[in-house]
Parts: sequence; structure tokens; C-alpha cells
Amino acid sequence: MKSNPNESTLGKQIGLTCCPTCNKVTCAESACCSRCDTKLVIRDYGSLQKSWALLITAAILLIPANLYPITTLTNQGQVTQDTIFSGIAHLVKTDMIPIAIILFTASILVPLLKIIGLTIYLTAISFKLPISKKNLMIGFHIIEWIGRWSMLDLFVISLTVAVVNMGQLLDAKPAPAATAFALVILLTQLAAKVIDTRLLWDRLETKNDSSTNT
Ligand SMILES: [Zn+2]
Repeated sequence: MKSNPNESTLGKQIGLTCCPTCNKVTCAESACCSRCDTKLVIRDYGSLQKSWALLITAAILLIPANLYPITTLTNQGQVTQDTIFSGIAHLVKTDMIPIAIILFTASILVPLLKIIGLTIYLTAISFKLPISKKNLMIGFHIIEWIGRWSMLDLFVISLTVAVVNMGQLLDAKPAPAATAFALVILLTQLAAKVIDTRLLWDRLETKNDSSTNT
């Protein structure tokens, strides 16, 4: 067998594991972490199921989040309801293009990219798809990067409500889709959080795809 100087050794192979709470490297045979007493598992295969369940629920909730009204506006006794799409269309019509772009990115683009990215990531681990190491790593970094922008949604909602309430004599309140939308954001965050990333590293170490890297 040809030896490769760049080949890394998995902790699993030399009987070591890392505590998920405090990151202490411990012997894989110990049941609990000696520093913080967290239960140790070499690989959490159940995390895939949990992540899939959260992701599928988030994808289903994306439908009511877009179909039902997200805001209820009361203007001099007249009540109007807006969905995400009609809200964006309304902002474009009233020449508030920058806010419309932020709203589109935060409410449609970011959640959708996050769901697509996580689906590819989970499919690659669960079904061992023939995706090269390089592409898997790019996908992983994209999901990580998008994750940082999750708070943008909350920022946009507060910004929109502030603009609406200050600009005119209007009263803006969240409508049914707001709950579904908040759950989409929360569930996609949790789906990315629960997954044991070591399962991806295992796949990257074992999959021989040197032909795709050349
Ligand atoms: Zn620990």
C-alpha cells in the first residue's frame, strides 16, 4: 500500500474521541468526559435522523410561510394583509427597492438556500453520493456562511415594522405566516446544529475521489 504524507489519521482509528461540550480529547472507551461529565459517543448516527426530521418539517412549513399573509396592516380602520411576495411587490411599487432586496434575500433566498444546502449535505452523508471532497467542503462552508445571516430575518421584520409604523399612521401586526416563518428559521438552524459533523469528515477521509481532484 502506497503511503501518503498528507493522509490524516482519524481519532476513531487510534481510540480517541472528542467531548462535544468542552472539546477535551478523551479515550474513546470512557463513557463520560472526565472534565465536564458529558456522555461520550464516537459518532452520533442518530443525529442524521434528527437533522432530516427537522429539515423536512422546515421545508413543509415554508409552504404556509409563503402562502398565508405574514403581516396585517390597519390603516384608518381598513385592514389589509400581505404575504411575503405581495409585501416585496408593494415595496418595489413604492420605490423602496433597497428594503425590498433585503426582504427578498432574508425571507426567500436565505431560507431556501439553507434548506437546499442542508439537503445536499445530508444526502451526501446518508446516501454516500459520488460528490467530490472539494465540492462537499465548498457546500459545507456555504451552509456555515449562510447560517451567520440567519439573524437578518429578525432584523428585516423589525425594520419593516419600524418603517411602516413610523412613516404613516399604520398599525402593523404579524399574521399566521409569521409563526410558520419563524419556525422555518428555527428548525433549519437546529437541523444544522444537531448534525454530528464528524460523519462528514469520516466520509471525506474514506472516500477515494483523487481522480476528481486532479
Ligand atoms: Zn467535556
